[in-house]
Amino acid sequence: MDGSGTSDGGDGGGSLRPMDAEQLRECGHRMVDFIADYYKSMETFPVLSQVQPGYLKELLPDSAPNRPDTLDALFDDIREKIIPGVTHWQSPSYFAYYPSNSSTAGFLGEMLSAAFNIVGFSWITSPAATELEVIVLDWFAKMLKLPSQFLSDAPGGGVIQGTASEAVLVVLLAARDRTLKKHGKKSLEKLVVYASDQTHSALQKACQVAGIFPENFRVVKADCSKNYAVAPEAVSEAISVDLSSGLIPFFICATVGTTSSSAVDPLPELGNIAQGHDMWFHIDAAYAGSACMCPEYRHHLDGVEKADSFNMNAHKWFLTNFDCSLLWVKDRSYLVEALSTNPEFLKNKASQANSVVDFKDWQIPLGRRFRSLKLWMVLRLYGVENLQSYIRKHIQLAEHFEQLVLSDSRFEVVTPRLFSLVCFRLLPPTSEYEGGRQLNYDLMDAANSSGKIFISHTVLAGKFVLRFAVGAPLTEEQHVDAAWKLLQDEATKLSGSA
Ligand code: PLP
Repeated sequence: MDGSGTSDGGDGGGSLRPMDAEQLRECGHRMVDFIADYYKSMETFPVLSQVQPGYLKELLPDSAPNRPDTLDALFDDIREKIIPGVTHWQSPSYFAYYPSNSSTAGFLGEMLSAAFNIVGFSWITSPAATELEVIVLDWFAKMLKLPSQFLSDAPGGGVIQGTASEAVLVVLLAARDRTLKKHGKKSLEKLVVYASDQTHSALQKACQVAGIFPENFRVVKADCSKNYAVAPEAVSEAISVDLSSGLIPFFICATVGTTSSSAVDPLPELGNIAQGHDMWFHIDAAYAGSACMCPEYRHHLDGVEKADSFNMNAHKWFLTNFDCSLLWVKDRSYLVEALSTNPEFLKNKASQANSVVDFKDWQIPLGRRFRSLKLWMVLRLYGVENLQSYIRKHIQLAEHFEQLVLSDSRFEVVTPRLFSLVCFRLLPPTSEYEGGRQLNYDLMDAANSSGKIFISHTVLAGKFVLRFAVGAPLTEEQHVDAAWKLLQDEATKLSGSA
């Protein structure tokens, strides 16, 4: 492989040089240039990919090449065939779902992690990987002012999971086994999980994987008068009913920043309920956790001292390239008991002496990447103050968008904004049969099909609602203004055609 158009794969595999430092230097520089150009020209691409399903099959051969290709040919294909099928999550006009930040620091960390390419399942496989993870998670816990029990010198500690879905699965397994130990192995069918109807579907999946009986997954309706936070009384009531039927309530999941509307569940009250019934209390702050490092948003975590586990995604809104989901537990022994194995082929002096952390026992897979590097780089190269300003800026931009929506009587803001997500909709004519569903779907579709912005939707209390989530690293006020103008123009066209 080289950039000149000739290939050095040679005849047969004998001359293959899969890792050559000088070749890496040359090709790596070219790739970095390519990526920098991509970032510079990001705004020329449609934010939401406009390709049709199956488009790539038409463009690529049916089988892998027998002989090596050139890097130039690959760059051409990336430009012509891959980029059209990419949705540009880093575009400043990306406002869909929740963000997935990249940054120079995060990027450099990913590069270095790819360079070492370790598989850090046990301390011995790369002591720095485990030890840096422990240190950086402790730093982060202090930034969030998590209770001291979550720190590594207490019975608890932090670990990087791939995603919030993996985080909730591993703590559910820990909680399940803790409960089964108390009530007996045959009690699985009696274990009940509680969450609100605004809880991310990751919990439902975790229940499926953990063998929780589907009929024992209690979905408590969130309270629309409380902006879609769950009412603790409703959770208490459900627990009482289950207890009287001989079931075993064992797990409550609260959310700080729900996916649909960024609602915050009442942590102190839910924590009290969990403690009162000896239940595991998990907090999912996948998106909004980042905001809580700013003192003015920290109150949303009040009650975290009652939690058994707490999770937030640094890969969402904290400039750390995907994937990097931070999980802390108050007592790591439950996690380790649920997930540890000790096969002969992995035994080593440090592990046997119990003097080290082996993160393989805190997660589902054996292998794990050196993910703490990128988080460490983000923290070191930006510093906490800059990171706080970064979050505040997005929240101010969301506030600005909210004001724009409020200033146009054709629209409504559906729930009060707490962080950087605005839930809004175009008001339907009173005569409209579907209560605005089709109208707002058409508005979203028109905006997204233009390629100029990407927004997503949800349904709240039967209303089809548009979600405008600020949080891409390059977003500025001009992008928010342009998005709003587009939405207004499309709304005008739709009302003209109504
Ligand atoms: N929890 C919340 C509140 C989320 O918003 C999301 C995704 O947006 C998730 C969990 C799932 O995240 P992941 O993709 O890291 O599993």
